[in-house]
Amino acid sequence: MNSRLIDFHCDVLYKMLYTGEVDFVQHDTRDVTLPKLREGGVGLQVLALFVEPSLVTGPPRFSQLVRMIDLYHEEMLKHPELQAIRWKQDLEEWQQASKIGTILSLEGVDALEGDLVYLRTLYHLGVRFVGLTWNHSNWAVDGTLEPRQGGFTETGKQLIEECERLGITLDVSHLNEKAFWELLELTDRPIIASHSNAASVFKHPRNLTDDQIKAIIDRNGRIGITYVPYFVADKEEVTIEDLVKHIDHIVELGGSKNLMLGSDFDGIDKKIKGLEHAGQHPALLEALEKQYGQAFVQDIAHTNAYRFLKENLPSRAE
Ligand SMILES: [Zn+2]
Repeated sequence: MNSRLIDFHCDVLYKMLYTGEVDFVQHDTRDVTLPKLREGGVGLQVLALFVEPSLVTGPPRFSQLVRMIDLYHEEMLKHPELQAIRWKQDLEEWQQASKIGTILSLEGVDALEGDLVYLRTLYHLGVRFVGLTWNHSNWAVDGTLEPRQGGFTETGKQLIEECERLGITLDVSHLNEKAFWELLELTDRPIIASHSNAASVFKHPRNLTDDQIKAIIDRNGRIGITYVPYFVADKEEVTIEDLVKHIDHIVELGGSKNLMLGSDFDGIDKKIKGLEHAGQHPALLEALEKQYGQAFVQDIAHTNAYRFLKENLPSRAE
């Protein structure tokens, strides 16, 4: 199967920075390496910039994002098989060559420290998706695990406006539900949930309710099905069949053209059986092909995400 698979979320840059294992070919302990991307038929990988607030690394700082972007250039893009995608025009080049495309995203705006200059700088460096929060609160808004479930601050609202002006797509995975609905009032643009599943199949704060799923579909947004076992089912060993139930449910809600993949590889310590690194995406696609046929697999693995990029990436000024 050559679907030129598109994966909308992984944390390999975070892993590279914090483990110091920066070579993109070796390091078999990682989920995402160049050989594994090839083995899995991945044609385009979105790379999250994520800074975990911790006692070891201190509070999230912009310099930590810059270090990940430096690794992106020095360790990934030095391989001629990889291509940076920033603009709509880059997609045409990507389609003609058989390179693995890469796009930067930001997971949580904490490290921007409320400064929109930092946001614009990331945009100039190629960041095209912005996840508003990780699990906790930050200067813009609250995440899914923040008990007060607060909405947007004034600066958070300015951030939304600035993303809209620049052509950055907002990512609602990790955003609390109340803020999700507030966001839909604040912007008309399509949104994505890059790595979330369906809460009616398995109730977890990181999953989307049916109303949220329908709202994303109505906006012509996208939902990246994620391989995080603890969002899929409460079992010792979570299987691909368990994950497919989430896809079934979103299809039932009318989302067959809105589904895409958002693995969360290198951001998870436990795995779904048989879906344990980037080389194993085909195992999911084979299961889906048996049930839904080839056209559906092509949609979820490639076309739905590709169309979204084509419609929503900003154009380079000619
Ligand atoms: Zn995440």
